[in-house]
Amino acid sequence: MKTYKFKLYNSKKNRKLQHQLWIASKIYNHCIALHKRYWHLFHKSLNKNKLQKHLAKIKKLPKYQYWQELPSHAIQDITSRIDKGYKLFWGNLKRKKKTAPPKFRSWRKYRSFSYNMVSKGVIKSNTIKIAGNKYKFFKSREVEGAIKLLTLKRDSCGDFYVYLICETPGAEIKFRSGKSVGFDFCLKGNMLVGSDEEDDVKAPSFFKKQQKAIAKANRNLSMKKMRSNNRRKARLFLARLHRKVTNQRNAFHWQLARNLCLKYAVICLEDLNMKWMQKGHGKKVGDYGFAEFLNILGYVASQFGTRVVRVDRFYPSSQLCHDCGYKNEGVKDVSVYQWDCPQCGKHHNRDRNAAKNILSEGQRLLSA
Ligand SMILES: [Zn+2]
Repeated sequence: MKTYKFKLYNSKKNRKLQHQLWIASKIYNHCIALHKRYWHLFHKSLNKNKLQKHLAKIKKLPKYQYWQELPSHAIQDITSRIDKGYKLFWGNLKRKKKTAPPKFRSWRKYRSFSYNMVSKGVIKSNTIKIAGNKYKFFKSREVEGAIKLLTLKRDSCGDFYVYLICETPGAEIKFRSGKSVGFDFCLKGNMLVGSDEEDDVKAPSFFKKQQKAIAKANRNLSMKKMRSNNRRKARLFLARLHRKVTNQRNAFHWQLARNLCLKYAVICLEDLNMKWMQKGHGKKVGDYGFAEFLNILGYVASQFGTRVVRVDRFYPSSQLCHDCGYKNEGVKDVSVYQWDCPQCGKHHNRDRNAAKNILSEGQRLLSA
């Protein structure tokens, strides 16, 4: 499966999409209301098929006729989304975890719809047919394979994107052999510290560079009168800034993943406990985007035949002396950057030592 993302041209025609999104939000909220009412009446969860049959029936009533401007498969997708949300909610409840069930959403925050019955000829040169109408888009690459799902999405800047999930019969890629490397995730200066000094990856900190600009835009927005045109403009300006940072970070991640996979056949990493990371160093973790990077790395590695090995997060990579294997509990404290091994006397840089340990543990896991 491969996902393509294309931006649509900005045109007056896009109002049609905006309107269809609005309809989708209406249907979504209608379904949520039905779910709630059904629960009150019968104390049972409303079945998806029942709901779909009901919607298909009322769609024919004059009051709801405008729903037909949305493809019926898109309506089915809305019911599936809600169903998934409820299943998650009930599942969590069983596990004694309190979460919120799917709730009403304002049409402003309702940003996407999807449908799966996509015919072969939806794309002709740089136009694509979405929910009955043709739109021009920036065709950055050819689409390969059969389209399984089409998603239309509006971002916070009001631009429209189309996502195509395609099934491609990709050739099986074999793992290659070559150099290995270990990395420790880091939050100080470097984003990744390698088992060799030359492998260190400097943190880009786009966010930090843009932080001042974002703070200023935020202040600017808060000073504008509610519901004024100037406020709308200020909000858009801020959303564009955020989008820029996200795009820069994304590009950086792809580039980095590509470079690493070109150079190495085996990449060993620590399995991060994201929750812990977020608790300790919220902003920076978001800034570096470790989780997104790992996703991208996994994908790129599979294309290059590079193996990514994840070392258990309970493996005490930072406490073990790489040279003699002595476990130094005193290094648990994250403020210790340099330490000397009490057993063999070797001087260690905390992160470099951890990266070396991650590499050897990863190699052990591979051979096991
Ligand atoms: Zn030692």
